[in-house]
Amino acid sequence: MMTSQILVLNAGSSSLKYSLIDIKNAEHRYSGLIDRIGETSSTHTQHVNDTSLKTELRIADHRQAIDLLFSSLNQQPNFHPDTLACVAHRVVHGGERFHAPTRANLLGIELSLAQLPNTPQIAVFDTAFHQSLPDYAYRYAVPESWYQQHAVRRYGFHGSSHAYIAEQAAQWLNKPLADCSFISLHLGNGASACAIAKGRSVDTSMGMTPMEGLVMGTRSGDLDPSIIFYLQRELNWSSQEIENQLNKHSGLKGLCLENDMRLIHQRAETGDRQAQLARSLFAYRVKKYIGAYLAVLGEVDALLFTGGIGENDCWLRQNCLEGLARLGLSLDSDLNQHSKNPITVISTSLSNIPILVIRTDEEFQIAKESYHSLLLSSEKT
Ligand code: ADP
Repeated sequence: MMTSQILVLNAGSSSLKYSLIDIKNAEHRYSGLIDRIGETSSTHTQHVNDTSLKTELRIADHRQAIDLLFSSLNQQPNFHPDTLACVAHRVVHGGERFHAPTRANLLGIELSLAQLPNTPQIAVFDTAFHQSLPDYAYRYAVPESWYQQHAVRRYGFHGSSHAYIAEQAAQWLNKPLADCSFISLHLGNGASACAIAKGRSVDTSMGMTPMEGLVMGTRSGDLDPSIIFYLQRELNWSSQEIENQLNKHSGLKGLCLENDMRLIHQRAETGDRQAQLARSLFAYRVKKYIGAYLAVLGEVDALLFTGGIGENDCWLRQNCLEGLARLGLSLDSDLNQHSKNPITVISTSLSNIPILVIRTDEEFQIAKESYHSLLLSSEKT
């Protein structure tokens, strides 16, 4: 009989996030983050039940990070590698030009395989949930050969998060997911919107790379592509320099030199114009996508907020829903101040469309999908 314990790994270019999950009891047994890998001082944060432990140490590379993870795991009572059904890896596929995250994910798979050669390793793609997009949503209006020969198309990201909160919302509505339509807003340092019809993604704001769409912590989101040629021509900037500026120095950070929304609010409330513009622009872009996806879906069962900002930031939620009551989205400003539970309703009883704040759990979704694919493959053999 297969065990239901799964180790989820999410390797970033300088971080390793992990979670040991028991899928049957729906619990995170042990989780943590090894951060600033390769820098002079790295951190290891571990969470067991409700307690957290943070240690500072130097972790030179991903190999050392994986060694540290497995030695910490082996110290957990009742943990034994034989009790793992599989190791599930989050893989961010990045198209042709966006190699770094995929490289980190592949390294995570290789190193974990070396530690546990007999345990199945399963890759879960962040793009998979968006495979259901129709061609008129995933294609760009560019020469067909770009798509045929170079795979230039919209892929979408944050799939595990959108899929997880859609399932939670369907349970809350007491309806089968396959009968539900949602607008899902994952608003964190990375941010994306997703239109979900009959439980499947039909459009999403991130594109071939995570750069497109909403304003993010350090990414610009939507942009006129001619700006890039203008900068190349007029300022002689290289494409790498422009890519770096758009990815790491734009978004909230580009507008006000800060990408932590909490600090942006503090500054905005003392009259700082740059911070005021940054948060307004962020909210305005979210509102435009809500309008677009109301049109895409026609009928919507609920609007969902998640991610660090979506789950916690009542100012932002209020501002991106401002004036939308006539379109069926009516926010209860009192409820909006108190989104504490895994699921909170923040709409008024008159709202045609319920508005929900849902705490995301990408690791749980990844564990669940891996477990199901293991079950399927064991049924086939
Ligand atoms: P990531 O995309 O890196 O996973 P998160 O989902 O953790 O990002 O979101 C990070 C963002 O959430 C930051 O801008 C942070 O300021 C914001 N955030 C976290 N907690 C709060 C809060 N209580 N109020 C407002 N913003 C918050």
